[in-house]
Amino acid sequence: MDDLLDYEDAPIVEAEVEDTKEKKGTGYVGIHTSGFQDFLLKPELQRAIIDCGFEGPSQVQHECIPQAILGTDILCQAKSGMGKTAVFVLSTLHNLQTSENEVQVLVMCHTRDLAWQIYHEYVRFSKYMENVRCEVFYGGESILKNEKILKDPAKRPQIVVGTPGRILDLVSPDNPARARMSLSKLKVFVLDECDKMLDSSRDIGMRRDVQDIFRATPRNKQVLMFSATLSKEIRPVCKRFMHEPMEIYVDDQSKLRLDGLQQHYLKLTEEAKLKKLADLLDSLEFNQVIIFVSSIERCAFLCRHLVTCSFPAMCMHSRMEQRERLAALKGFKNFEQRIMVATNLLGRGIDIERVNIVINYDMPEDTDTYLHRVARTGRFGTKGLAISFVASAEDSEILDKVQQRFELEITKLPDQLDPTLYM
Ligand code: ADP
Repeated sequence: MDDLLDYEDAPIVEAEVEDTKEKKGTGYVGIHTSGFQDFLLKPELQRAIIDCGFEGPSQVQHECIPQAILGTDILCQAKSGMGKTAVFVLSTLHNLQTSENEVQVLVMCHTRDLAWQIYHEYVRFSKYMENVRCEVFYGGESILKNEKILKDPAKRPQIVVGTPGRILDLVSPDNPARARMSLSKLKVFVLDECDKMLDSSRDIGMRRDVQDIFRATPRNKQVLMFSATLSKEIRPVCKRFMHEPMEIYVDDQSKLRLDGLQQHYLKLTEEAKLKKLADLLDSLEFNQVIIFVSSIERCAFLCRHLVTCSFPAMCMHSRMEQRERLAALKGFKNFEQRIMVATNLLGRGIDIERVNIVINYDMPEDTDTYLHRVARTGRFGTKGLAISFVASAEDSEILDKVQQRFELEITKLPDQLDPTLYM
């Protein structure tokens, strides 16, 4: 325990390598933009943005992209689904030195599935750029394969996306002789869902891994961190990794509620949940729905049950093989199935365009988790519906806390709901 505390308190010092970068800009430079073209991004990026169908930048993109391009450290909190990923993907691609074959950009997040999704955003936005190499590294897959890619200068990625466990194994800071990946030339260090990654009350292991990896990076680099939820307690923790960061809190905590989203609850007993769920799936109109449950066992059980009842469901949880998990996510993103039963594994960051209903079959354990889960629908300002099953006094308490924190009234699910409100 002492060990752990010492660890926590220790300053986070990076590797001693040559300082090559100029001093960063500080504070907010008022750059006003009305369209993506005003960011003066590389033409190849502008073309890819047009292909993606993005018409104009969201508020968070408007505020962060110009600063990110200038090399400023950024701590950014903005609503889910407002395009935080594009902030770091576009700015790092814009600044990438494609002639170099060392790792320049490291992006880490808390799940393999989110890492995979971010990797695909890099692929999507870099499609017109030449000599961009991006790889995704996470556990559950052969490390030898990663090693082989990293050894070959012609294949070595300039951008690495991954989860902390595998990245730490590759970097091996305590035994440099065994390092398979060097971060000595790193220029940008990105944490997505940073509060989740650095909150030691939830996952001390992940925070420690992140710190260890950070120590293997040069001092002079840019640090970018993002989340939809950044409590007052976690902000100073994040800032310990940064130099004079620009802090952007696009929405204060109470305004985090998602505007296009209809939110309701249903009081019922545990025993009545299965039947009620089946009724809802029969009566509601949806493109795709995610049903959140509290445990892996319940996830597998509920999925089997729905399939037995002829609902085309699939599931996703952390006990599945990595390949199966990705196949499930890909299949769902490609609209092969319309119902996904999931644990919190899918609760953060994952972006599936057609999801218009989220059902909390089991109430989330806290208000942050509620927000991240329901934000899987109503992405980028679209409409959506969130229904929470309330089956105990603890569930009611969480519901009350959600309403207080986000200053909203979650009403009982009416018998009839106009589909135009959420479709
Ligand atoms: P966040 O990380 O803030 O939760 P994402 O980066 O996952 O949000 O973006 C949510 C969705 O919005 C994605 O499908 C993304 O492609 C889309 N998106 C991002 N920026 C724009 C934009 N400027 N215009 C239209 N769609 C966008």
